[in-house]
Amino acid sequence: MIILMRENCPKKAVGRVLGQLRRRGLGARLISPAPRTVLGVVEEMAPALIEELTGLISGLESVEAVEPFGASWKLASREFKAEPTVVRAGGRGLGGGELAVVAGPCAVESREGIIQVAQGVREAGAHFLRGGAFKPRTSPYSFRGLGEEGLRHLAEASRLTGLPVVTEVLAVEDVPVVAQYADVLQIGARNMQNFALLEAVGEQDKPVFLKRGLMATLKELLLSAEYVLAKGNPQVILCERGIRTFEPETRNTLDISAVPILKRLTHLPVVVDPSHAAGKRELVPALALAAVAAGADGLMIEVHPHPEAARSDGRQSLDLEAFGRLMGFLEPLARLTGPARAGLLH
Ligand code: PEP
Ligand code: MN
Repeated sequence: MIILMRENCPKKAVGRVLGQLRRRGLGARLISPAPRTVLGVVEEMAPALIEELTGLISGLESVEAVEPFGASWKLASREFKAEPTVVRAGGRGLGGGELAVVAGPCAVESREGIIQVAQGVREAGAHFLRGGAFKPRTSPYSFRGLGEEGLRHLAEASRLTGLPVVTEVLAVEDVPVVAQYADVLQIGARNMQNFALLEAVGEQDKPVFLKRGLMATLKELLLSAEYVLAKGNPQVILCERGIRTFEPETRNTLDISAVPILKRLTHLPVVVDPSHAAGKRELVPALALAAVAAGADGLMIEVHPHPEAARSDGRQSLDLEAFGRLMGFLEPLARLTGPARAGLLH
């Protein structure tokens, strides 16, 4: 429920609205401050309570209108926050106009390896370093990451290059250790609806990089983001990484329409991961360029100095040279498509 107060209404009038809500065990969040105060009540209410409250509050002095939220995600909606969110991590921003590139290997494999790739992607112009220390793998026998040792190598690579680190947290009990080393906490596609994990990262003061589930709708993705936001963490980045379809030529099907749709529905930044979508490195540049043209705020790209020797996702990883070439194409395209990121096409 959105409550619009009249311009320059006395503080007392806002207090009376809050009092009515409080009496029913409800709180309000400030959507915009005075002189034109707008309040949002995000809790779910029974239809009878909505009717009663709407009648009561709209009858109060200085209340201009009481409206329902247009959708079931609320804190993530443009109604709650019209201007784009810029997520800040390790001195860098993501969202709000500039294109941000997150690059690095699928998994941290060794100290030397992650330092080499961090230096390489930084030289090519990347803004964030990625690399998994806790890896979700389809088979329990596959390489599942170096754990805390991998986090330490990531932190060292970050110190040496100045690139903030994005890395996955797989389980609630690992949140404190990952948050200790990482700048951005990644929630992988398979955990998009792990609500306990979403709430746990919602309690951290680190940004959350939330990947779309393999079979999740955009609405479900937004409601997962809502779990993080509702816990008080406003820094959420959404990531389209391909969804499962009947098409076997790619690992997943990149849903390019997710970009303009999400950008209309939410103020949160939208990143595209063409690597996990394509599953094949030769497709990654075309999908990356398409994502930027569609208005993505950022890209997440897997890069490995020797993809053929990678312990995970080598088939979809670019080597440093191919990544450098792609960055050369991305920069002019990003300049040209600035209006798409700024929301001017919508
Ligand atoms: C990853 O980023 O390495 C990863 C496992 O991605 P996803 O969760 O999208 O499969
Ligand atoms: Mn991967």
